[in-house]
Amino acid sequence: MPEGNQPPPFEGGNLYLDDPALQRAVAAEGGDWAHDRLAAWGARLGRAETFALAARANRMVPELRTHDRVGERIDEVDYDTSWHELMALAMREGEHCAPWVEPRAGAQVARAAAYLLHGEVENGTQCPLTMTYAAVPLLRRSASALPGLYETWLPRILARQYDPRTQPVVDKASALIGMGMTERQGGSDVRANVTSAARSADGSYRLTGQKWFFSAPMSDAHLVLAQASGGLSCFFLPRLLPGGTRNAVRIERLKDKLGNRSNASSEVEFDGATAWLLGEEGRGVAVIIEMVQHTRLDCVIGSAGLIRGAVAQALHHARHRRAFGRLLCEQPLMQNVLADLLLEAEAATLCALRLARCFEADAPPSEVALSRLATPALKYWVCKRASGVVAEAAEVLGGNGYIEECPLPRMYREAPLNSIWEGSGNVICLDVLRAARREPAAVESLLAELSLVRGIDSRLDRFVSTLATTLSGRTMSEHEARRVAGDIAIALAASLLLRGAPAAVGEAFCASRLGEGGTTFGTLRLGIDCASILATA
Ligand SMILES: Cc1cc2nc3c(=O)[nH]c(=O)nc-3n(C[C@H](O)[C@H](O)[C@H](O)COP(=O)(O)OP(=O)(O)OC[C@H]3O[C@@H](n4cnc5c(N)ncnc54)[C@H](O)[C@@H]3O)c2cc1C
Repeated sequence: MPEGNQPPPFEGGNLYLDDPALQRAVAAEGGDWAHDRLAAWGARLGRAETFALAARANRMVPELRTHDRVGERIDEVDYDTSWHELMALAMREGEHCAPWVEPRAGAQVARAAAYLLHGEVENGTQCPLTMTYAAVPLLRRSASALPGLYETWLPRILARQYDPRTQPVVDKASALIGMGMTERQGGSDVRANVTSAARSADGSYRLTGQKWFFSAPMSDAHLVLAQASGGLSCFFLPRLLPGGTRNAVRIERLKDKLGNRSNASSEVEFDGATAWLLGEEGRGVAVIIEMVQHTRLDCVIGSAGLIRGAVAQALHHARHRRAFGRLLCEQPLMQNVLADLLLEAEAATLCALRLARCFEADAPPSEVALSRLATPALKYWVCKRASGVVAEAAEVLGGNGYIEECPLPRMYREAPLNSIWEGSGNVICLDVLRAARREPAAVESLLAELSLVRGIDSRLDRFVSTLATTLSGRTMSEHEARRVAGDIAIALAASLLLRGAPAAVGEAFCASRLGEGGTTFGTLRLGIDCASILATA
């Protein structure tokens, strides 16, 4: 134990084996076969060396080089070696590809667990991994659109050997994909996009206009939206053209943003950039929505990782730091705070892994229907909870939680980000409402899922009954969309905890989240068994 009443380093543990809730969730959702692999990944991520890479990647920020020394445009972003090392590790683990390469039962769940663990350590690298992962189903379906897409691009997108070089894709070991939808005119309302796409004689298109947010600009290709003569359409836009010349994509500047600093987000100008149509003209939103569903899944998993990571740091600190003659974790009020935070971590973890099961290759139609409601509802709720949890976890560490050498300040900056990504709070809740109104199968699957715990907790029974009445009414107004989305998420979390968590956890969640919850953490009522909850972690 270091002197000065300071806890020993958090690093050095196994992030998977030290997380019984995640292990239970993996087993419950069909990914237990991946136990050894996840344990190895948890050990690798838990090393001091990996935490150091994460800290360094966020200190040594990417730099834009628009021109070379003789004034030619190059539009290159230089990343620190720590970024490349983290990317190489995650790609070797298959975070961007494993379920597509080996689509066995539980593959999405196993991949979700690996991605969640990654989210406890570093978040900027998760952006290009997610976008590459999410693009695959759409690209597979669009294979005929682009000559060489199937033979040249897909094998490299699915490859595990990270290759950051600016080279024609045929000469690379792997390729990464990004996404460009948002323009200055509108991000939620992408129909306001003005970037234009003109068809050339050879069937390709020339794109002219700007994108206001264009993350991971060094990706080998981006999927972008632009206005063709038939309306808003989805395009495949490579960074280098076949033959190796640079496509006419100018990086204007990098964003100085809230959130991680390791990943570059840019503003770009298309100056007649060459792209290939995916799907039909005018169907751009319908085509790209499949990618958006998978990125939303990752927002849930990523935020669950952030929550778990912050709570684990808080627990570690409280178990080693003494105040007023006792360890912090022995003080009743601190136990209340920690137990309350643990409820969030366990709920987010179970929700994320349950949602991942809906995305399995062998998922029956009822699971696909459930995902239609559960994805936006959980995306809203878990991402929103992250900010409050991380802020409270930082306070558990006292002043140390506010110093940049500690990961908590970085996590705090990251916490609100997933909420704006791929459907901000309001927009995602309006999507929940749309699904509830238009897709009776989704409501049916949700209620069937919730009925698995009927009779176990009368508070949840009443909550679900009210929710069912709300969802059956055609009168849900936009005004209430956040409440409806939040109630769906809370009901799902409560049901998963009652089925898969130690009894004290399920009981405390129902007691505190179904009606009489406090507005801050640490307000669990007397009688809730905080000691038992803490013993589960
Ligand atoms: C760090 C970062 C990286 C990003 N990377 C990318 C990227 O790689 N590619 C990309 O395409 N985009 C990217 N984005 C952009 C992001 O997806 C958009 O910012 C987001 O979709 C919101 O769009 P907007 O900024 O135009 O806000 P707006 O659409 O103007 O929304 C503003 C506010 O109004 C609310 N709102 C909108 N419509 C309604 C309504 N009907 N009812 C009630 N409220 C409403 C929204 O919820 C939001 O709170 C990134 C953003 C950030 C912060």
